[in-house]
Amino acid sequence: MSEHLYIHVPFCIKKCRYCDFYSKTDLSLIPDYVTALVREIRLRSRRSVLYPKGSAATVYFGGGTPSLLGPRHLEAILKALDNAFGLCRQTEITFEANPGTLDAIHLKGVQLKGFQGMGVNRVSLGMQSFDPAQLSLLGRIHSAEDAVHAVEKVRAAGIENISLDLIYGLPGQTGDHLIRELDAALDLMPAHLSCYMLTLEPGTALHAMYERGKFFPMAQPDQVDLFRTVAEYLSVRGWDHYEVSNFAEHTSLRSRHNSAYWQMVPYHGFGPAAHSYAVNSGTDGSAAYKRFWNVPDLNGYIRALNSGNLPGSGSEILTLEQRQMEYVMVGLRTAMGLDIRTGQNLWQNRFLTVFQRLMEHLENNGLARFQDSGKRFVLTLEGWMRLDSIIASFVERI
Ligand code: SF4
Repeated sequence: MSEHLYIHVPFCIKKCRYCDFYSKTDLSLIPDYVTALVREIRLRSRRSVLYPKGSAATVYFGGGTPSLLGPRHLEAILKALDNAFGLCRQTEITFEANPGTLDAIHLKGVQLKGFQGMGVNRVSLGMQSFDPAQLSLLGRIHSAEDAVHAVEKVRAAGIENISLDLIYGLPGQTGDHLIRELDAALDLMPAHLSCYMLTLEPGTALHAMYERGKFFPMAQPDQVDLFRTVAEYLSVRGWDHYEVSNFAEHTSLRSRHNSAYWQMVPYHGFGPAAHSYAVNSGTDGSAAYKRFWNVPDLNGYIRALNSGNLPGSGSEILTLEQRQMEYVMVGLRTAMGLDIRTGQNLWQNRFLTVFQRLMEHLENNGLARFQDSGKRFVLTLEGWMRLDSIIASFVERI
């Protein structure tokens, strides 16, 4: 089992103010999208010899709002994935859900039970906040009560592996307020928490408000203080802080799908705007590291597949330098850190020559430590609080 599959579901009832993910609010296109998606999965599996059957380790339905899909849609997609890759009980199948839509779905029937029956075994709920004022500022369509009920419904459907997303660092938020948010989340006994610092992305409604002087983001040092609050509060309670923004109740409950991204393992992305990463081996033993992506346009995506064409819109072969940069940027974000042997391979035995002094400097200043008898280099919490500048120090030596 080694394949990691991402399905982008590009629909939302309403665009949240902070979000720059590709999605559309015209839900009438959902049936055409599902037909096209199933075609894409079939076409790509037929054209490639790279997909050994019975090998899907993870499937992640992200978006957008996957919980806008009906059970028949989900069944068709899972069947296509099963035919192409092979799903089994061990496959981690995560389904992102917006609490506002889960309620509507549930009221229509027993769809959640249906989802679980089809193999969905992990639900990630976009809760974001328990504070009505913050939910309103973020432009969320649900209340805190909706979110609490959504957890109950997911659990009632037999899915215990529940992840909650929280956003912090909104203007005026204090440490005490954030702790109340964390307590409210912990009361729901999730298996996993993703706590994201609010960032201002160009093209979003929040960014436009900022440009018009209607939104004043929290200063970065204050956001970093809140990051420390989250990390310390959850660590003291035994949570596994395994990536800058991600915490598992136990190491066995880490997101296997996202962990694969952070280990730079190949993955297949399906749906409009989805990215894929492949490593193709040449007959001479060489390898090509390729990233490719689908057209970020729902109508164009459906049109291409209706005509029997793949909806790709671009690709790049990663240079050695790009791979080195990604290795550093991604590795330093995780509790696994940088594996020295992998670094030596990637730098043709020059990793230690290039970075030893920097790594020692960071260690001497309490920002990092060597673990596993020097086999791995891992940032401490103090280091994660300076992550951007530490990454910049690594990148400038590449
Ligand atoms: S945050 Fe989620 S629900 Fe909101 S617009 Fe983005 S994808 Fe849609």
